[in-house]
Amino acid sequence: MKLTSYWLDTAKPAGDFRHQDLPASVDVAVVGGGLTGLSTALHLAKQGASVAVLEAHTLGWGASGRNGGMATTGLAIDFTKAVERYGLDDATRMFKLYDEAIDTVENMVEAEGIDCDFERVGKLNLACKPAHYDEFERSADLLARHADHQMTLVPRSRIREEIGSDFYSGAMVDPLGAAVHVGKLCSGLAMAASQYGASLHEDCEVVKLVRIGDRRHRVVTSQGSLVAESVVVGTSGYSGKLLPWLRRRIVPIGSFIVVTEPLDRAVLDEVLPKRRVASDSKNLTYYFRITPDGRLLFGGRARFAMSNPGSDLRSGDILRQAVTKVFPILRGVGIDYCWGGLVDMSLDQMVHAGWKDGVFYSVGYSGHGVQMATHMGKVVSQVLGGDTGANPWGDLTFRAVPGHVGPPWFLPPVGAYYRFLDLVK
Ligand SMILES: Cc1cc2nc3c(=O)[nH]c(=O)nc-3n(C[C@H](O)[C@H](O)[C@H](O)COP(=O)(O)OP(=O)(O)OC[C@H]3O[C@@H](n4cnc5c(N)ncnc54)[C@H](O)[C@@H]3O)c2cc1C
Repeated sequence: MKLTSYWLDTAKPAGDFRHQDLPASVDVAVVGGGLTGLSTALHLAKQGASVAVLEAHTLGWGASGRNGGMATTGLAIDFTKAVERYGLDDATRMFKLYDEAIDTVENMVEAEGIDCDFERVGKLNLACKPAHYDEFERSADLLARHADHQMTLVPRSRIREEIGSDFYSGAMVDPLGAAVHVGKLCSGLAMAASQYGASLHEDCEVVKLVRIGDRRHRVVTSQGSLVAESVVVGTSGYSGKLLPWLRRRIVPIGSFIVVTEPLDRAVLDEVLPKRRVASDSKNLTYYFRITPDGRLLFGGRARFAMSNPGSDLRSGDILRQAVTKVFPILRGVGIDYCWGGLVDMSLDQMVHAGWKDGVFYSVGYSGHGVQMATHMGKVVSQVLGGDTGANPWGDLTFRAVPGHVGPPWFLPPVGAYYRFLDLVK
């Protein structure tokens, strides 16, 4: 079993950018080489700006190369909850942004000719309890009436049309959800950004930002310094000591994935006959899909813990058991990959983007960044291009997580609390 991301293992890197000379100055320095950073660089470079992407590890090394590869509609919180919190108009506007975000991914893939298995297979939302299915019915009704967004409800009696499992109490299908090979997406975005003139730098940690003008900074990296007219930070769940203000607002939560050996077509037809991407309604959610080469990818929060090799293995064991609990037909199937990554949770599970101390940040995708991080690259380029109204998340208050000043010590008790909620609700 490989303890590495299936996506990164099966994608050709855009190149080796570990020893590139840093430019002396750029219009924009982008900290972080994930989907936020690469999409920002691509959009800005295409508009003629000089851009440097500064990545501490390799491009796509963070959550962008480690996720479930699902570009789905909808916020990280239920639509009904969003309506309670923000009112119908704002909740609808924010919900619709995710449709727009998937369109952005699709348009970029098409415009740049990125071969990344992007496919609108539809998203299967699975109810773990009858009460959760009732909630789906309420959400589907609200979305149809107010957002012109059509979901299809699948009662338990017909669930086998969608999934080879009796684990769930019903489902809700969103036809707009898409599957994508995120390793190839990251490589493709990097390649395109580079072709438009962006300079890409790996093994290049930004260690200090020294403000020398309104937005102008001297950017100090592990490979030397450069001057940037603007700085964009897209470090998400990997935001470390560089910006303590940002770190206090993002909780990095480990999410873990296992990928089986390739499965026979007949087994795949039983497990997910329509090849949809799927997730369930638990707090400690399971999510799964079929990979382009016919394996089951199965992920989950498994434990509320950070990701590291030991933690990934322990979570992998839990997920291996979960695979057979949900899909008894897969008992005894081999697991070829197991890895983990950090999800960037904000306190309200909403995206937060804006200016702080002359730096623009875009973070807090809360497990829904495949489409939204990519989309935010376009938004950031509009904001930096002078469109002050382009940022759709600018009005949200970005609260610090109480007691969170370094590594998140509170994950185990929070995990226990959510496990308890999954039992009783
Ligand atoms: C296991 C898992 C499953 C997920 N599944 C899904 C899914 O199916 N669908 C979905 O929509 N979302 C999913 N997500 C969330 C999604 O992957 C993220 O929201 C998204 O990739 C965030 O992209 P990003 O570019 O903002 O951050 P990242 O991809 O995390 O990139 C941040 C980068 O910043 C770099 N960095 C940090 N500090 C510095 C520094 N000082 N200097 C230089 N570089 C630095 C890091 O090395 C890292 O590469 C999942 C996440 C995980 C972990």
